[in-house]
Amino acid sequence: MVIGIPREVKDNEYRVAQTPGGVSLLVQRGHRVIVQAGAGEGSGFSDREYEEAGAEILSSAADVWTRSEMIVKVKEPLPEEYPFLRPGLILFTFLHLAADERLTHELLRRGTTAIAYETVELSDGRLPLLVPMSEVAGRMAVQVGAHYLEKSHGGRGKLLGGIPGVRPADVVIIGGGTVGINAAKIALGMGAHVTIIEKNPDRLRYLDDVLSGNLTTLASNPRNIEDSVRVADLVIGAVLIPGARAPRIVKKELVAQMKPGSVILDVAVDQGGCVETIRPTTHSQPTYLVDGVIHYGVTNMPGAVPRTSTYGLSNATLPYILHLADLGFEEAVSRDRALAKGVNAYKGHLTHPEVAAAFGLEY
Ligand code: NAD
Repeated sequence: MVIGIPREVKDNEYRVAQTPGGVSLLVQRGHRVIVQAGAGEGSGFSDREYEEAGAEILSSAADVWTRSEMIVKVKEPLPEEYPFLRPGLILFTFLHLAADERLTHELLRRGTTAIAYETVELSDGRLPLLVPMSEVAGRMAVQVGAHYLEKSHGGRGKLLGGIPGVRPADVVIIGGGTVGINAAKIALGMGAHVTIIEKNPDRLRYLDDVLSGNLTTLASNPRNIEDSVRVADLVIGAVLIPGARAPRIVKKELVAQMKPGSVILDVAVDQGGCVETIRPTTHSQPTYLVDGVIHYGVTNMPGAVPRTSTYGLSNATLPYILHLADLGFEEAVSRDRALAKGVNAYKGHLTHPEVAAAFGLEY
């Protein structure tokens, strides 16, 4: 199969879909890999390393897209890339369609078959391609939050860990999945008081078992959310219902009651966000204020630490890319139920129930 790896075009997105190591494995299996010049630069991989791995380097994005049977990317196509979407093309990348109606319609109208990393789902409900990026975003969320809590960055001027005799910061994490547990580990390690609010009771038990430190676990209900968020210094949004738009469980009236200079970092913003006042932001302009509360809504947080993230993402996606390339789309999807769950659009038809529900479309 001919596999294309274009350079990412999203603001401050320095990840690339595969490392030279991954490319070399694909080439050894008899596939042709085309990499756009400079695609790996942000992650510290030169064109020369890709060439040595057996890839062909092309300078224009259009050439990479049009000459490939399958495009492997990191982030969803942006409007400048829509003209490259065509019937017969397989697109394998993060898509987050439930939060992007325009892209959903473009994929359907243009007949592209699209597999979303974030909805590839194992039989036990785990999301193997989302996990590494959620690990990065969860760990990053705390360091970014600590940064914005500093007075010179607009925050309340509160140190996460406090000091002996002075209260630590209150970090409230809503959603105790991969983002949530990773954020909790780092925040607890820094000495903060951490509250995790989670709707799954078994998961709450697990979090209580494996985490230690100044931790409170709470069931997710409006009362617990209101009581915790009102007094929080840092709120981290980390809920997910796979494929669906995130439920908006922190209302704007509650945000208005938070302390000035406190921080909301809604990692779930890529699925629309779980805080009513959040909107997508970029690494160039990451924050804005609502009622004196700093809001951070960057949709591609791992893009800021590409050296870590590219390795993490490539490790997870490579077995699926090999499977698709070796067997072809139809055979690969019929043999692998996890991959089949990742298919969001097939030859002009919507194939994910949650995405269809988000826009009232037929599926
Ligand atoms: P996950 O499935 O591992 O965890 C989500 C958790 O939310 C689950 O434990 C689930 O039970 C819980 N949940 C669902 N509804 C809830 C509710 N009403 N109240 C409390 N808890 C609830 O998902 P994840 O991998 O941690 O991802 C979380 C979000 O972060 C996703 O939207 C993901 O796409 C996003 N993400 C964003 C970035 C970014 O750069 N902004 C990077 C990585 C991941």
